[in-house]
Amino acid sequence: MAETLLKVAGLHAGYGDVQVLWGVNLEVPRGEIVCLVGSNGAGKTTLMRAISGLIPARGGTVGFAGENLTNASPERALAAGIAHVPEGRRLFAAMSVRDNLLMGAYLRRDGAQAVAEDLERMFAMFPILRQRQGQDAGTMSGGEQQMCAIARGLMGRPRLLLIDELSLGLAPAIVDQLCDTLRALNREGLSILVVEQDVATALDLASHAFVMDTGRVTRSGSSAELRDDPAIREAYLGSI
Ligand code: ATP
Repeated sequence: MAETLLKVAGLHAGYGDVQVLWGVNLEVPRGEIVCLVGSNGAGKTTLMRAISGLIPARGGTVGFAGENLTNASPERALAAGIAHVPEGRRLFAAMSVRDNLLMGAYLRRDGAQAVAEDLERMFAMFPILRQRQGQDAGTMSGGEQQMCAIARGLMGRPRLLLIDELSLGLAPAIVDQLCDTLRALNREGLSILVVEQDVATALDLASHAFVMDTGRVTRSGSSAELRDDPAIREAYLGSI
């Protein structure tokens, strides 16, 4: 078993009077793709936000590469190596594609040359972004915006990429292309935690999976184990 990169233990979190997460445990081994699935409102987005520091933890811990990131700011989480591609992409719609990508590098201190090289890497990975680099990000298609959001996350040179709702609203051919790109990034060493509503896509992409329901992790295991689990097949895969 690979070393644990991200370890969430007993995490509680919520919004105002509403508690959403109730003692969530989740791990991402270094070098793996892990998926998080579950029904609407289960708390997947809330968990991603608590990991990347967008909302505070009310209890429990977030450990990352030996560092305690519980209640760390988003800047500190990013500096530690966690980049978050949020649900709905959240691009700066009125800024160019190129400037959106550069925003992803705003915490880097390794110099303009290194950032320019990574920008070139992003354009090689997603050639459509090179063509669209001067265009306002908000004018692109959903698939192009998702590519831009992923590339923006990668511009922070993360060790762990969090992706919330990879395929939502995208054509199957685009989803296949994005999954191939994520597999290639993973082969280069990037660890990935992805929230995905299409469970078949999620289990195909990831080596490990966690299932959430009403703020708790109710099931976890290898993707192969979950694919063979009759309860998962019935609830999420449309067959038994
Ligand atoms: P979905 O797939 O629908 O996005 P999810 O599993 O990502 O679901 P969350 O978005 O984490 O679930 O939502 C979990 C619960 O928290 C829901 O009941 C939701 O209404 C509530 N919630 C989410 N965001 C907020 C907020 N900003 N303020 C108050 N409650 C919120």
